[in-house]
Amino acid sequence: MRNKISISPGSVISNQELCEKFRCGPQGGMRRSNKTNSLVLITDLEGSNYKDEWQDDILLYTGMGQLGDQELNKYQNKTLNNSPYNNITIYYFEKHEPNHYCYVGIMKKVKPAYFSIQSDKNGSLRKVWIFPLKLLSKTIPPSVAEKTALYEIKKEYNLYKKSKIDLYKKASKINQRSYRRHITNQYIRSPEISALIKKEADGRCDLCNNEAPFLDIEGLPFLECHHIEWLSNGGSDCLDNTVALCPNCHRKMHVINNKDDINNLKQIAIQRIKEMEENYRSDNS
Ligand SMILES: [Zn+2]
Ligand SMILES: [Zn+2]
Repeated sequence: MRNKISISPGSVISNQELCEKFRCGPQGGMRRSNKTNSLVLITDLEGSNYKDEWQDDILLYTGMGQLGDQELNKYQNKTLNNSPYNNITIYYFEKHEPNHYCYVGIMKKVKPAYFSIQSDKNGSLRKVWIFPLKLLSKTIPPSVAEKTALYEIKKEYNLYKKSKIDLYKKASKINQRSYRRHITNQYIRSPEISALIKKEADGRCDLCNNEAPFLDIEGLPFLECHHIEWLSNGGSDCLDNTVALCPNCHRKMHVINNKDDINNLKQIAIQRIKEMEENYRSDNS
């Protein structure tokens, strides 16, 4: 008999609670439990190295094995690969911060696993297995989307405390186009880029040059991160496509998107990158 586990999407539990509920081990991103006939999958959003990626409503989940080539017919990779024929239930979690496991929902494998090349912990290239999975609920439940949004805001606040140089080192390497599916498609916006651009703007809107209209609850000037070429039009989340705008100008760009304004913002973004390269690259050892 399948042991039905009761947990609702959006619930955040500790590692200990997770182990007790699923009766699985405390370690790893793929945890098999024979006692509850379950396989728990975890995407660690906390570490910057996670490779799991959403494409539309399919999660491309990277298999198990931190070093060297991953093997398809061993351990949990085998279990996941043999689903649904082994009658196991796959429970999917996102780990947002230390000891915060947010339950997303039950997954099923929708296409055969395929292999891909990724670098391992030590930076050596190796073979990994990718499992295309879909949520039974089809889309990420709103309760999970809320938690993720909160986590991203929190992460940005934390990053805001870092120096501009540290942020630059991370943000200048980011150029991402992936997005995840919530209720609608939601593009991934890097908090590193957003925090750095706002710091560089120094409390002033990049379009009207006025001071931010108010301070937010953290006491920071309220500006919004805007992608000059919209993500929804194929723009990238990278430094040369990003500016900080006051809410008025931000609305203006989304309502009017005037050509002169676009060109001005592009100039500002490019000029800013030059300055950052001069200011921070010398320390980029
Ligand atoms: Zn403005
Ligand atoms: Zn915008």
